[in-house]
Amino acid sequence: MNERIGVTILGSTGSIGVSTLDVLRRHADRFRVVALTAHRDVEGLFQQCLSCEPDYAVMADADAAEQLRDRLWVAGRPVEVLAGPGGLERVAALPEAAYVMAAIVGAAGLLPTLAAAQAGKRVLLANKEALVMAGPLFMAAVRAHGAELLPIDSEHNAVFQCLPPDFAAQNLEAGGVRRILLTGSGGPFRTTPLEQLPDVTPDQACAHPNWRMGRKISVDSATMMNKGLEVIEAHWLFAAPPERIEVVIHPQSLIHSMVEYEDGSVLAQLGNPDMRTPIAHALAWPHRLASGVAFLDFTRLGPLEFQAPDYARFPCLRLAFSALDAGGTAPAILNAANEAAVQAFLDQRIRYTEIATVVERTLERVPPHGVNTLATIFADDAQARAVAGEWIAARPSEG
Ligand code: NAD
Ligand code: MG
Repeated sequence: MNERIGVTILGSTGSIGVSTLDVLRRHADRFRVVALTAHRDVEGLFQQCLSCEPDYAVMADADAAEQLRDRLWVAGRPVEVLAGPGGLERVAALPEAAYVMAAIVGAAGLLPTLAAAQAGKRVLLANKEALVMAGPLFMAAVRAHGAELLPIDSEHNAVFQCLPPDFAAQNLEAGGVRRILLTGSGGPFRTTPLEQLPDVTPDQACAHPNWRMGRKISVDSATMMNKGLEVIEAHWLFAAPPERIEVVIHPQSLIHSMVEYEDGSVLAQLGNPDMRTPIAHALAWPHRLASGVAFLDFTRLGPLEFQAPDYARFPCLRLAFSALDAGGTAPAILNAANEAAVQAFLDQRIRYTEIATVVERTLERVPPHGVNTLATIFADDAQARAVAGEWIAARPSEG
């Protein structure tokens, strides 16, 4: 029997992490879980350690790591428990794991994901924030260390599947590609009257019509900041200038994105909206694996609709395009301000419509650095969080 491929899952207790484990369980003859990680969810990671028997478990929070170590010891499970950012970076680079699923949410995912690239892994990239914050650095690390970068974000995975097979050695022009068409559902508020948007609640924002996801990305999908982050992600992944990336609203979420060629052909990737498809694709690439996802029945699909995005309804999408145009650390500032604003909205400290205001004010007040080094990225990320935090704290009171 062939040696099983070792897999590390960064963020295993989240939505993507759980879907990844589901696919891996279906193919236990081919893959073995080497390391699992979580932020503070001791019970969740403990249960995963019992069922997946990893060699390592990491809790980003040190107290949580201590609790997990005790529980595994009592249960007689020989799992090495590590803590903190150092532990995350260590399991991202273990020699026994050839594949690393990067599924931590937010800026916290950048360093461990970068560590996986620097260790030359097959990186299954769900953490789009890593590319938004540090696109040039991250892509350079992938090239320098011979890592394989496979997109998990459903849109980018779809584009990857629709590009020419030898695309990595080409560019859009040489491949005959005219445009990349990123689809987005428009989220739960696509048709909500604009005057009702200030009063929508976190639970309403997280009730996505087609996808089940973590709360941060669910709010981003409602504001379409998620699509804005994905435009930046596509720019770096596919070396695509912004004018060659178009966003199309497609409420049914069955076409996951498209590639338009110079000859007028458009290739699309379709499937039920279930992240196990891109996860299985990236695990098996260039082959295919069963994912557990239900197959499409075209005779029952109903109409597929398409619309242009409305920037008055989705100002965050416009802000993301302008941060990409501004370049340098502007996308990192956009991302940090958005993380702070989304958390404040989830904590009911600001209104839904103030998320865009926080991001816009922060971009106005924090000048971006032209050069992307980790030091400038983290300095501007911190400054953006501070400025966003000030706006949130001093939020104009409501009459
Ligand atoms: P989630 O909130 O469900 O899970 C996040 C995971 O990261 C959890 O395991 C959590 O413990 C861990 N985590 C959170 N904060 C951390 C910290 N500070 N340090 C270390 N670990 C931390 O999120 P999700 O929906 O699974 O999304 C994960 C990533 O994948 C995000 O970047 C998201 O944009 C991207 N993504 C998700 C989906 C989806 O369908 N859920 C689709 C496309 C892309
Ligand atoms: Mg996506």
